[in-house]
Parts: sequence; structure tokens; C-alpha cells
Amino acid sequence: MSPTRVLVLNSGSSSLKYQLLDMRDSSRLAVGLVERIGEQTSRLKHTPAGGESRERGGAIADHDGALKAVAEELARDGLGLDSPELAAIGHRVVHGGKFFTEPTVIDDAVLAEIERLIPVAPLHNPANLTGIRTAQALRPDLPQVAVFDTAFHTTMPESAARYAIDVKTADEHRIRRYGFHGTSHAYVSRATAELLGKDPAETNVIVLHLGNGASASAVRGGRCVDTSMGLTPLEGLVMGTRSGDMDPAVIFHLMRVGGMSADEIDTLLNKKSGLIGLCGDNDMREIRRRVDEGDEQAELAFDIYIHRLKKYIGAYYAVLGRVDAVAFTAGVGENAAPVRAAALTGLEELGLAVDGERNAVRGDEARLISPEGARVAVAVVPTDEELEIATQTYALVIGSGNHT
Ligand code: AMP
Repeated sequence: MSPTRVLVLNSGSSSLKYQLLDMRDSSRLAVGLVERIGEQTSRLKHTPAGGESRERGGAIADHDGALKAVAEELARDGLGLDSPELAAIGHRVVHGGKFFTEPTVIDDAVLAEIERLIPVAPLHNPANLTGIRTAQALRPDLPQVAVFDTAFHTTMPESAARYAIDVKTADEHRIRRYGFHGTSHAYVSRATAELLGKDPAETNVIVLHLGNGASASAVRGGRCVDTSMGLTPLEGLVMGTRSGDMDPAVIFHLMRVGGMSADEIDTLLNKKSGLIGLCGDNDMREIRRRVDEGDEQAELAFDIYIHRLKKYIGAYYAVLGRVDAVAFTAGVGENAAPVRAAALTGLEELGLAVDGERNAVRGDEARLISPEGARVAVAVVPTDEELEIATQTYALVIGSGNHT
């Protein structure tokens, strides 16, 4: 019998998130997180299915130490990584450039290509590579699969993927719109079609992934035709700490007039802008609490957030021509009813509306929030990137006969 488990690893610069799934029923056998790797105060939190969470403190020097600690915790639950039940390890890799259009079994050539992409993903790809190498050292015999955040967006036509800048310069420096959150957009667009009882290949969906990072995508018949993030995750919507769209001349202005360096501006736009820059908070719960108390700064931040979101909904409606559904997902999209209602207010002429009662219902299941008989469905569809990574990994490994 084929092995049935997949370990999903999401490796950040100082963190390692993991989930062990049983692909027979897509259930979680264990989930966990190692934080502050490389510091004295590292922390591992491990939760086995149906069991109590366990925590470990103390210094974990590097990702190798982190994965070994994770392996020990899994072994305590009888889920050791040396088990023949483990089919593969699926890695989230942020940037796959133009080259990686699908999940890919990792070999030396794949590692080299991920490394070559570091200049366009300086924060993420090195951390992802570390995670892969660490896992390879632990289980060299096991297939390791890279699932790229950019892959779903590689179907964008050139008209959407290219910036209107000098072509030679763009090509020399690989400057184009890659898009991110692709695993989520793929999962949610498909789950939305399923919720409607439609074939994903015949369904057009606008997906709004609204988390701390946020992006929108236009999906025609299961294929992405446009998305709001670009060369990096900075473009597009207003996010928790990122500005999203802006006149690029703001950057020259800050350099020439503000005397700021490229690194300072990078930090400003990625970490100190968006909602936190506008009102000092990036958590939508806190912003809504302040709005309800009449805080004008929070209200303006909320309005700017919604204005941008609404512009993208309109733009992607035009890009798609016919829209079957608008789907809200991720932390804000799944939980913040006021955001969903405000984003669609005034769009009734486009067939878009939110039913107040349905919108107020909370839950973990995919659900419709548009009124009965609406021309365009509006849905809340919880995302599940780990399941999508595990599913893609398992399909590739079992399908390709690479499993042990
Ligand atoms: P994510 O990046 O998908 O984990 O989303 C995280 C963000 O979701 C947080 O920063 C909050 O702004 C938002 N969020 C989480 N829970 C809620 C909630 N119950 N109501 C409103 N916003 C929420």
C-alpha cells in the first residue's frame, strides 16, 4: 500500500511552520510552529490531533535544530519522520518566477533555479531553501516537492503580467508581475466553484485574499488571468503593513527630498504603511472597534482600505466580463463582515450584493452571503494553503511513482 502522510513545511527566515496530514481523509495528524529560530528565546508549539498542545522553550540555533526538534515531538506522538507512512515533504516556496508553473519534485537543478530567483525574492527564497536543505538532510531518500506561491499566476497573459516599461530593461532584470498567494487563490477559486455546484473550468471568480498580506485575483475557468500583487507582494491592495499601489515617483521623491535610502523606503512601504501606517493598527478587529467608537483616524484607514478593494473588484469584473462569484478569504475576508459589506456597497447594478443576515453568520465552512437569487454569488470560502500544498505534493509523488 502507498504511504499516506505528507509533511508540509513553511519555512520563514526565523520560523518554521508545519503540518502533518493524512491524505486518506485530508485530516491533520499534527500542526505546529517554531518561532525565533537563532535567538535565545526560541519556542516550539506542537499540537497533535485530538491532544493537548506542548511547548518547548530555549535556544534553537538554526532550521536544522528546529526540524530535529519537530521530528522529536512528532515521534513522541508515534508520527516520526522515519515512518514508512510518510510519502513526501511539501515545501511552500514563495518565488518560482516564470519557470515553475506547477509543483515540482526537488532535485539539484530545481534548487539552483530557486537560488537564482533570490534577487527577486531576497527575504523569502533563502529561508525556503534552508527549509528544503534541512529536510533533505533529515530524509535524503524521501521525495521533496516545491509548491510555489507564484505558480497559479503563471497563466496570466502578457498584457497583465508585463509592466509598461522598457522591455529590454524589464527582461534583463526579470521585472514582471508574478503575483503571490497563488496556492490560496487556486484552492479558493476551485472551492468556490464547488460551492456553487459548478465545474471550475466553466466558472469565473474574483478571489479576495484579505489577510495581513492581501491580494485579489481574476480567475477565468480555473486559470488566473490577473492578480494584484506584482514583482513583489508590495503591489495592489492596502494591506496590514504594506502600502499597495502607489505612484512610483513617491520613491524618487522620498530619496531626493526626504533623503531616505532604498532600504529605508523598502521598510517604510512594506512594514510601516498600509493600515498600520494610516492609523497605528493593522488588526482589523482593533480598527473596527475604534471605528465603532468614532475614531476618525481608524475610519479613514478603513475607508482607504475599502476604496482600493472596491476598485479592484470593479477592475476584475471588467477583466472577466462575466463573473459567477466573488469569494472572500483569509483572516479579514473570512471574519470581518463589515469589510465584506462595505466592499460591495453600491455595486448592485453589477449584480453584486451582500445579504445582511447571511453576512453576519460566523463559521468555518464555505458559505454564500449574497441574497437569494442574486445574479453573482458572493461567498466566504476559508482558505487552506497547507491542504492545497499537501494535495499537490501527494498527487505529484504518488502519480509519478516517486514514492518510497
Ligand atoms: P491572515 O494573514 O490570513 O492570518 O490574517 C490575519 C489578519 O486577519 C489579522 O491581522 C486581522 O486583521 C484579521 N482578523 C483575524 N480575525 C479577525 C476577526 N475575527 N475579525 C476581523 N479581522 C480579523
